[in-house]
Amino acid sequence: MNGKPKIGVYVCHCGTNIAGTVNVEEVVQFAQTLPDVVVARNYSYMCSDPGQALITDDIANMGLNRVVVASCSPRMHEPTFRKTLLSGGLNPYFLEMANIREQCSWVHDDPIAATEKAKRVVEAAVVKARRLEALDVKEVDVEPSCLIIGAGIAGIQAALDIADAGFKVYLVEKSPTVGGHMAQLDKTFPTLDCSACILTPKMVDVANHPNIELMTYSQVEEIGGYIGNFDIKVRKRSRFVDMDKCTGCGDCASECRLAGRIPNEFDEGIGMRGAIYLPFPQAVPAKYTIDKENCLFLTKGKCGESPKCKDACKAGAINFDLQDEVVEFKVGTIIVATGYDVFDARLKPEYGYGVYDNVLTALEFERMVNASGPTGGKVVMLERGKKKKKKEGEEAEAPRVPQSVTFIQCVGSRDKSVGNEYCSRVCCMYTAKLAHLVKDKVGHDCEVTVFYMDVRAFGKGFEEFYDRVRREGVKYIRGNPSEIYKKGDKLIVRAEDTLTATPLEHETDMVVLSVGLCPRSDNREIIDLLKLSQSSDLFYLEAHPKLRPVDTASDGVYLAGVCQGPKDIPDAVAQAKGAASAAMIPMASGKVKVEAQTSVVNEQTCRGCGFCVELCPFTAIELVEINRMGWPVRVARVNEALCKGCGACAAACLSGSIQQRSFKDVQLLPQIQALGVK
Ligand SMILES: Cc1cc2nc3c(=O)[nH]c(=O)nc-3n(C[C@H](O)[C@H](O)[C@H](O)COP(=O)(O)OP(=O)(O)OC[C@H]3O[C@@H](n4cnc5c(N)ncnc54)[C@H](O)[C@@H]3O)c2cc1C
Ligand code: SF4
Ligand code: SF4
Repeated sequence: MNGKPKIGVYVCHCGTNIAGTVNVEEVVQFAQTLPDVVVARNYSYMCSDPGQALITDDIANMGLNRVVVASCSPRMHEPTFRKTLLSGGLNPYFLEMANIREQCSWVHDDPIAATEKAKRVVEAAVVKARRLEALDVKEVDVEPSCLIIGAGIAGIQAALDIADAGFKVYLVEKSPTVGGHMAQLDKTFPTLDCSACILTPKMVDVANHPNIELMTYSQVEEIGGYIGNFDIKVRKRSRFVDMDKCTGCGDCASECRLAGRIPNEFDEGIGMRGAIYLPFPQAVPAKYTIDKENCLFLTKGKCGESPKCKDACKAGAINFDLQDEVVEFKVGTIIVATGYDVFDARLKPEYGYGVYDNVLTALEFERMVNASGPTGGKVVMLERGKKKKKKEGEEAEAPRVPQSVTFIQCVGSRDKSVGNEYCSRVCCMYTAKLAHLVKDKVGHDCEVTVFYMDVRAFGKGFEEFYDRVRREGVKYIRGNPSEIYKKGDKLIVRAEDTLTATPLEHETDMVVLSVGLCPRSDNREIIDLLKLSQSSDLFYLEAHPKLRPVDTASDGVYLAGVCQGPKDIPDAVAQAKGAASAAMIPMASGKVKVEAQTSVVNEQTCRGCGFCVELCPFTAIELVEINRMGWPVRVARVNEALCKGCGACAAACLSGSIQQRSFKDVQLLPQIQALGVK
C-alpha cells in the first residue's frame, strides 16, 4: 500500500468555529499546490456523514493512500476519521490531522495571520502524511469480570447492573460496611424519601447476589496488566472476628471495656462505639469488627483478666490470631467509585468549628436527625466530650432543644481562600432539606435561618422544594458570614445582608455548616495504582467532559459517582449505570483492540541504560538479555499490550533507540521543519 503518496486534504469550516477566522477557501487552494496532494476540498462539517463521504468517495475514485483532515484537535475526532479511512478500505493510520481550530482559529483574532498559520499547519501535516506507515491493530481477549472499587451508592448500582447482566463482579470496600455516605443520610432531597429505605435493599442485594464477590474492610494493593487482563491483588484486613461464625448478636460490643468511649466514624464522632463494633444497625455485612488501633488486647496485649468481648461471644467468633488475607484474581475491566470526603470545617477557623460545641457540620447534623443516629433522630444541643455525673437514682437531665438553628451555605465551596473554586452542587438542596427537618422535628416555632451566596436549585423538583421550605418559614439571608463568636449561651453570626447592604449580628443556638464535597484525602492510593489523572479541582479526570464522561485515559478503567466530581444521588446512580454499560461493552464482545501507536526498540543500538524502564508510567518496558554479535547484552523491550503510546520513553532515550510508531524522528522532524522551526 505504501507506493507513491497520493494525498487528499480536507479542510473543515466547523460551522463558523474555523471559517469565522480562517479563510478556508484560501487554505484549500494552497493545499492543492503541495507536492503529492491530488485533491483538496472543504466542507462545513467534515465529521458529518456527507463530509466523511467526500473522503471515502475520493479514496475509491482517485486512489488516495494518505488523508489529511484539517479541523479540530485529534483528541476530538481522530477516531472518527480513522473509521472513515477504514470504511474506505485504507489502513486507518494513514490519517494525519491538522489542528486548525484549537491551535489556530480559536486562539487568533487576525484572519490574515490565522489563515497563514493554518496553511503552515496543513503543509506540515502533508509532510508528515507522506511518511506515515500502516500499523496493525491487535486484539486481546477480555476476562468477563469487573473490579469495582468503593461500595457507596455508585459502586453498588454499577455492581448490581453488571452482575444482573451475567458478569462476575468483585466489589471491594475499604470500610467494614457497604453504603458509603448515602447510608449516613436521613431523608433525601427533593422528594424527602427515606435514604435507608431505598438504599438498604440494594445493600442486601449486593451481599447476596450470586455474581458478586463482596470484600468489605479490604483494599486493592496491586493492579497490573491492561484492559481485558488486569491482575488484581486485594488485602482483606482482619476483623479478628470469624465472619462465618459471627451471628451479629452484638453481645461482644455491649461488653467491650471501651464501649461508648471511641468516637464512631459513621456518626461523624457525635455518637460513640467500643473497640468491637458494628458501624450502624443496618450495616452489610452484619458482622462485628475489632478496631486494632484502639482495642486494649491488641494494643497492650491485655484486656483485664481476659477480653470481655471474647468471653461474651457464645458463637466463639472472636479470634485475636486471625491475620489479613491477600487474594489475587483477574478482571477485564475496572470501575472506580471511591466517592468523597466532606470539607474539613476547621480550615475555616472564623466559624469556630471544633471550638464551639454547637457549631456542627451538615453531615454531623444528618446523623443527629437520623432515627438510627446517636440522638435517635432528636435535634438537641450538644455537649461534646463532657460526661455528666449523675447521682444514684437520679434521672438523666434531658438535653436542651435549640430554639433557633442557622445554616451557612458554601462552606469550603466556591472559596478561593481554601483552594476550592468549584460548586459542590448538593449543599443548597441538602440545606433546604435539613432546614425543613428542623421545622418538622423541633416545631414551627423554631427559628431557622439560612445564609447563602445564591441558591442553585437546578434539578428536577429542586425549585419547587426550595419554595416549599421558604413557605414553611425558613428565612434566607443573602450574605457570607465573616465570623461566629459566643456571647453567653448564644452563638453570634456576624454577616452582611448583601441585598440591603446592612451589617448584622444574628443570634442563634446552633449553627450548621453546609460543608462541600472534596476529593478523598487518600485519593493518591488509587491514582498510583491506576495512573489516573486529576482535574484542577483534584477529582479524578474523565477522558472527555462531554463525549466520554465515564471513561478515563486508561483503557478499561471507568469512573462512577462523586470521585469524578460533586453530584447528588440521582446523578451518581446515572453515572454508575453509564460506567457499568461502558465496562460491559468489552466484556460482552470478548475482545478488545489495543493501541497500535506503541513504542518499539531498536535492539541493535539500545544501550540497556534502563532510563525508559524507570520513566514509563504504564510499566510497559523491561530489560531483557539478548545476544548481540556473540555477546550477551541487556536491551529494553516493550510489552505492546501495556504500552499506551504516551511517548515519554521516546522523548527521553539518549541514543534514540526507542521510537514511537507514527511519531518516529523521521516522521516528526520534517513536520517540525515545515512549520518553520529550524
Ligand atoms: C450532608 C450531606 C447531605 C446530602 N444529602 C443528599 C440528599 O438528600 N440527596 C442527594 O441526592 N444527595 C445528597 N448528598 C450527596 C450524596 O451523599 C452523594 O451524592 C452520594 O453519597 C455519592 O455516592 P458515591 O457512591 O459516589 O460516594 P460515597 O458515598 O462517598 O461512597 C464511596 C465508597 O467508596 C469507599 N472507598 C473509598 N476509597 C476506597 C478505596 N480506596 N478502596 C475501597 N473502597 C473505597 C468508601 O468507603 C465509600 O463506601 C448529600 C451529601 C452530604 C455531604
Ligand atoms: S458476640 Fe460473637 S457472634 Fe455476637 S456479634 Fe460479637 S462476635 Fe459476632
Ligand atoms: S479485647 Fe477488650 S478492648 Fe478489645 S474489643 Fe474485646 S473487650 Fe474491647
